[in-house]
Amino acid sequence: LPVLAIVGRPNVGKSALVNRILGRREAVVEDTPGVTRDRVTYKAEWNERHFTVVDTGGWEPDARGIDASVAAQAEVAVDLADAVLFVVDANVGATATDEHVVRMLRQTNRPVILVANKVDDVRQEPNAAELWSLGLGEPWPVSAVHGRGVADLLDHVLTILPEISAVAKEEVGGPRRVAIIGRPNVGKSSLLNKAAGEERVVVNDLAGTTRDPVDEQVEIAGKVWRFVDTAGIRRRVNLSQGADFYASLRTSAALEKAEVAVVVLDVTEPVSVQDLKIIDLVLESGRALVLAYNKWDLLDDERRIYLEREIEQDLSHVAWAPRVNISAKTGRHLEKLVPALETALESWDTRIPTGKFNALLAELTAEHPHPVRGGKQPRILFGTQASSRPPTFVLFTTGFLDPQYRRFITRRLREIFGFEGTPINVNMRVRE
Ligand code: GDP
Repeated sequence: LPVLAIVGRPNVGKSALVNRILGRREAVVEDTPGVTRDRVTYKAEWNERHFTVVDTGGWEPDARGIDASVAAQAEVAVDLADAVLFVVDANVGATATDEHVVRMLRQTNRPVILVANKVDDVRQEPNAAELWSLGLGEPWPVSAVHGRGVADLLDHVLTILPEISAVAKEEVGGPRRVAIIGRPNVGKSSLLNKAAGEERVVVNDLAGTTRDPVDEQVEIAGKVWRFVDTAGIRRRVNLSQGADFYASLRTSAALEKAEVAVVVLDVTEPVSVQDLKIIDLVLESGRALVLAYNKWDLLDDERRIYLEREIEQDLSHVAWAPRVNISAKTGRHLEKLVPALETALESWDTRIPTGKFNALLAELTAEHPHPVRGGKQPRILFGTQASSRPPTFVLFTTGFLDPQYRRFITRRLREIFGFEGTPINVNMRVRE
């Protein structure tokens, strides 16, 4: 999907605008300064066009941190987005921070739409007009809170946003796209360096800008891979606050562009909440997944027993993901990463022919019919694979299936087809 990023200083109304775009009334979060939020990307729809909205405003810094954090937001937005909404508070006017961000945005040729927010009333429109001075063209006056002007803005956005993401378009049939993600210090950049070795080919930013390269293309064992958003791994930003939110933006950005994610875990430390959140982001994004257990050279026997137990308990929901036990430092088992990636991608791409799928459903339901509920027994009429990447199935039924029964179907699909390395979805449509 094409990506629209929302950028701007704290308190200009980014979250309110995101809510408007998503058609929700409630706020994404309470506007509490300093509160971090994990959620960064949202699926949006306008006039039957679908796109992804990236809200960079999940963390509102104090005065000291503003420049650094807004610059970091802008940087991520530009790496990721097909178009940027730059939001300014029309009643405050352009500040030095705004001007700084505008300079960054203009170094790229991503389209930037200037939004003059908080124009609640026609009498405030002259304030919006003053924002021509930013040199971003016509300011779009809106009131995110009241909804004024937002429909016109979105109509305009759709004329600018490409039908499909520039990244996806460029990459059809190209090298497969891999995101290396994980919490700080697990060894992402070491892994990247070791895997890339001498073969590293830097890929320039798609928009052809002068900024740091965003992706790197690497040949491993005769095959070219594209590691996405490596700038996010190599570039160390020093944020006094908001580092977690920045990291989560980076992870979402990388996932948005990737087809498969390598989640790097540090075997010397217990699986943490942060590790699990990162895995959740992968599941939510629907990307293929490989788990890389790094720093294997530091593992002793005692820790090893705990590790296996942790994996069994905490990571049972992703037991289907291929696992590689590596050392980015010594190079141990790095060669196993490629087959793991290939397996995961193959599963992610899988299409099960409709005939085969229905024959299987018939077998499953004969062997294990849905229990009778309130005198009724919902039946599965037929099913089809609606899409791949990841495999998504739709079951047409005569009534709602128990969650338990759906899990049974999902489990059996996995047992039969494997789907090693990919999430799968089983949806249901009730036919009246
Ligand atoms: P990142 O923040 O995830 O990119 O982590 P880095 O790649 O910067 O690694 C963090 C630290 O762990 C560095 O000091 C690395 O040298 C070290 N490290 C990374 N991988 C390994 C490994 O496999 N074994 C050992 N012993 N140290 C490692």
